[in-house]
Amino acid sequence: MSRFLKSSFQGIEPYTPGEQPKNSKLIKLNTNESPYPPSPMVIEAIHTEELENLKLYSDPEAKVLVEAAAEYYNVDEDQIMAGNGSDELLAFSFMAYGEKIYFPNVSYGFYKVYGRIFGEKVTMIPLDKGLKIKVKDYYNLDGTVIIANPNAPTGIALTKDEIEQIISCNKNNLVIIDEAYVDFGAESVVCLLGQYDNLLVIQTLSKSRSLAGARIGVAIGNKEVIRDLKNIKYSFNPYNLNRLSMVAGAAAFKDKDYFEKCCDKIKDTRDRLVKDLEFAGFEVLPSKANFIFAKPPGISGEEYFQQLRKNNILVRHFNEPLIKDYVRITIGTDEEMNAIREQLSVL
Ligand SMILES: *Cc1c(COP(=O)(O)O)cnc(C)c1O
Repeated sequence: MSRFLKSSFQGIEPYTPGEQPKNSKLIKLNTNESPYPPSPMVIEAIHTEELENLKLYSDPEAKVLVEAAAEYYNVDEDQIMAGNGSDELLAFSFMAYGEKIYFPNVSYGFYKVYGRIFGEKVTMIPLDKGLKIKVKDYYNLDGTVIIANPNAPTGIALTKDEIEQIISCNKNNLVIIDEAYVDFGAESVVCLLGQYDNLLVIQTLSKSRSLAGARIGVAIGNKEVIRDLKNIKYSFNPYNLNRLSMVAGAAAFKDKDYFEKCCDKIKDTRDRLVKDLEFAGFEVLPSKANFIFAKPPGISGEEYFQQLRKNNILVRHFNEPLIKDYVRITIGTDEEMNAIREQLSVL
């Protein structure tokens, strides 16, 4: 740290992204990327004159992408804003609404970081013993609420009715639902936007649409909230998405068949793996995501992580008191999951 850093950033604990290893022999199951390539329509969309157009600034409204997203979600275009990854939209949301903010004590690691930089009063609400969100703890709060559904890194989802209860019991607070993993079996609350003006939904194309490297997220909400977020963006970086990502994202929304096929494959692979791990004595939390959170039998989370690592399988272990017994395993292809199975005999 230099002596020039402004005081509010001193001692900041940044988010730690999962490792992006150079070693291509590694089976990479640590950052919840899709094992499948983007839709062929995405690849086609990028190979056009758009490459030559890179000499021009991108559209600050990201119109092609917003149009395709509005059609997919069946909302008006002024209810959608595109972000450079959903992380950027989460950051804008914390800037706009994070003065007083509530979220679960085990959740996406970025919330704590954004809360620290952009917020004033951050309250983390404990999960229950089974690492589930206690819905009633979120009724009648006095600040913004943010919940990842399914939650990370547990993979456990609340139902649409449970989320609706939280929204309707917080009429004077904005409730932000981060649906990064919703396409793998949970229920989206986008359909509630017509009924509640205090709901903001954030989704990403990084996981279920195989576009982690393109950095595309969308915020879906009522048009005043979207206007707030756009005002922040225009005060920060008007050209937040690049041209290639816009056309890629638009094509990904249009290719619904491919998207659904990939999600179905991942869900099937997940459910088969869960059965086998449970049979081997693992405790696996009920996942509606493209990862599972599992506690190995007779070995610590850290030891299991190391053992997989020695065998060229990279998963994620969080060295935090409440979850240190678990590892998070991204659902890859069936062949990749067989590599996990092969390690079961040595437990
Ligand atoms: C991966 C993830 C994101 C971030 O996604 P990007 O769009 O790639 O920035 C946001 N929220 C949760 C809970 C995630 O797991």
